[in-house]
Amino acid sequence: MKRDLITLFFETLKQANPNPTTELEYSSHFELLCAVLLSAQATDVGVNKATKILFPVANTPQQILDLGLKGLESYIKTIGLYKSKAKHLMQTCEILVQQHQGEVPRARELLEALPGVGRKTANVILNVAFHEPTMAVDTHIFRVSNRVGLAKGKTPLEVELKLLKRIPEPYLMHAHNWLILHGRYICKARSPDCISCQVIDCCSYKEKNLPHLTKSKTTAKTTAKTTAKTTAKTTAKTTAKTTPKASPKTAQKLKRF
Ligand code: SF4
Repeated sequence: MKRDLITLFFETLKQANPNPTTELEYSSHFELLCAVLLSAQATDVGVNKATKILFPVANTPQQILDLGLKGLESYIKTIGLYKSKAKHLMQTCEILVQQHQGEVPRARELLEALPGVGRKTANVILNVAFHEPTMAVDTHIFRVSNRVGLAKGKTPLEVELKLLKRIPEPYLMHAHNWLILHGRYICKARSPDCISCQVIDCCSYKEKNLPHLTKSKTTAKTTAKTTAKTTAKTTAKTTAKTTPKASPKTAQKLKRF
């Protein structure tokens, strides 16, 4: 996608939603870190359901540690992979208490040193909590970027680096949330809602989901085939009618040859 189209793409998303936010519910940096850590391969809705009960009881690293592993598991057992997530969260809380005075660190390398926190989670924390223009490439951003031609890449890191390079600076801060929301609700994995898509004019995806166009294409093909068949039949009939029949004598002569 060319630079002027990229600008138009993000300007359009901005006009529709000037201040996009994460759908995870949180009220502190630590709550955000917990929610993001729990959200791997789970929906934000599912995570919010669990943290709504967990956070009023424990929303600091020390309080989570005080729950104990089994206690924490009982609050998050509705979330996929909850056992390993509980283990990671307990270990992360230990480090936060011992090395960071119970605070969430701002540096990428310190974040990525926390159990259960990879590059993507660190990017979300840096962007959402600390307002840094990072790009956390999740499944939605990976798909949308490749599909529409924003940034093609085989790995999330490749896509992340291309997006950071190509997205004009004024849009970088919110680009992460715009792309996630666009991928979650419009440019969906199985059936993108191209009819309602506001950035359709910028999108280079060849297989847009536009049923009325597909239908008229099919109709056009069918009509073309039918016309061709009818024409062929008519021509054959006409030729047969207009070609004079050989007289019996001529026919016999012809047979001899
Ligand atoms: S036109 Fe379709 S494929 Fe392109 S961005 Fe919009 S929803 Fe996605």
